[in-house]
Amino acid sequence: MDNLKELYTEVITFHNKKPRNFRRLESATREQEGYNPLCGDQITLYLEMDGETIRDIAFQGDGCSISRAAASMMTSAVKGRNRAEAEEMFSEFHRLAKGELDPDTQPHHLGHVATAFSNVHKYPARVKCASLAWHTLHAALEGSDEAVSTEREER
Ligand code: ZN
Repeated sequence: MDNLKELYTEVITFHNKKPRNFRRLESATREQEGYNPLCGDQITLYLEMDGETIRDIAFQGDGCSISRAAASMMTSAVKGRNRAEAEEMFSEFHRLAKGELDPDTQPHHLGHVATAFSNVHKYPARVKCASLAWHTLHAALEGSDEAVSTEREER
């Protein structure tokens, strides 16, 4: 896995060292658990919804650098967005992680998230680390009571 280096862009390193929104959100209106048993990544996602708008979002958890950086970037990217926009970004990230979205030639709303994870589809074991936060967000927006597992979320 020499090429794994490609994955560790400066952005991922930065977000892993200094994750954004890494805290418990006391004002949360929704709380969602997510697990990636393959790697042992665990996340608790807190959402404060104001109608259809994600007014605030934060996470806590324990996981590898990719899962942590992905959660940091995901929470920054969707904060202030409405549910429909966040769901669109979830599906764009899902396509990116499967190698079906080329961020350079196809329109998307992921910003630097797409740049940081543009190579993740080359590392199948890492896709789940990168996707965990997004799957957890998706479940939280749907109001699921069940904990998310990347093993069950596959589609
Ligand atoms: Zn991981």
